Amino acid sequence: MTRRKIAIIGLGKIAQDQHLPVVDKNPAFELVAVTSQRGITHRGLPTFKTPAEMYKAIPDIDAVAICTPPDVRHAIAIEALDAGKDVLLEKPTAATLAEAADIEAHAQRRGRVIFATWHSQYNPAVEEARSILAGAGVKSLKISWREDVRKWHPGQDWVWEPGGFGVFDPGINALSIFVRILPVTPFVKSAELTYPANRQTPIGVQIVFSSTDPDGPALAADFDWREQGDEKWHIEMETKSGHKLRLFRGGASLSVDGNVTVEQPSEEYERIYERFAELLDNRQSDFDITPLRLVGDAMMIGKRLTTDAFDW
Ligand code: NAP
Repeated sequence: MTRRKIAIIGLGKIAQDQHLPVVDKNPAFELVAVTSQRGITHRGLPTFKTPAEMYKAIPDIDAVAICTPPDVRHAIAIEALDAGKDVLLEKPTAATLAEAADIEAHAQRRGRVIFATWHSQYNPAVEEARSILAGAGVKSLKISWREDVRKWHPGQDWVWEPGGFGVFDPGINALSIFVRILPVTPFVKSAELTYPANRQTPIGVQIVFSSTDPDGPALAADFDWREQGDEKWHIEMETKSGHKLRLFRGGASLSVDGNVTVEQPSEEYERIYERFAELLDNRQSDFDITPLRLVGDAMMIGKRLTTDAFDW
């Protein structure tokens, strides 16, 4: 097995919770350095303030995983591709559709592997739901992705800034499952986006979708950051033959007609790095930005509502 030298850029919450421990235990990768603006270190590995310093000091890094907020991803990805690195991107791929398209085109020009990850897709329950809907068709599907922003994004002011996605930051995880399991192509038909009076991104979003299915299944999403108590990361579906499916625990579990059929511990990031190793072996890219397009469309045609100011 070729062991690839990898570096991680941006040592925030998700890098520390998932990327570092998962890469450490994957034999396909050797973590050789990190980039952290704040100078955070990991296991005594070399830490650099900028990717440019890291590429200069350790030129034989093969790949980087970019775990920064989305608004700075494009520049960091282009710089990595120009330095000859293969690139894994945290979700959401970029702050805009044009930036995402540019990253993909640039990777092609440079002959590098680019991997736009959607961690919520990497669950066996999601694949099982996809397979059932492919056979039985979908009559209705309702996404409820509701959590307490103070619990899940404590002090992360970037989520409220332009390019920070607001409640679409978790909502896009649900959309990544939605586009993976749906046997038809969905379109945003209408949306309502509710913004706190003092913030630049939405705290609540309602979306109604149309689709390429002539029977017009009822497809809807409800994203909310004002949930108190336990988070609700659910997708309820009814097949055309009347079976009731429920994906819950963020896509880690599935029930069919009330019986739990798939219940796995979440190993999303383990699967992501296995997939990255496979892509690197085959010199293939995986770059699907459909979830980002749906967010863009909701922002483009959605109605804007205003609610109470939000403070931490
Ligand atoms: P975070 O805790 O705010 O961490 C982001 C890190 O990126 C910062 O701590 C900083 O690390 C670095 N950074 C910030 N601004 C930067 C800039 N201008 N240029 C370069 N680096 C910068 O955020 P997070 O929760 O880890 O989220 C990061 C991404 O992962 C988001 O797109 C999010 O949607 C995704 N994600 C998050 C979670 C989660 O549970 N939090 C789950 C899945 C995916 P340094 O100071 O070390 O450079």
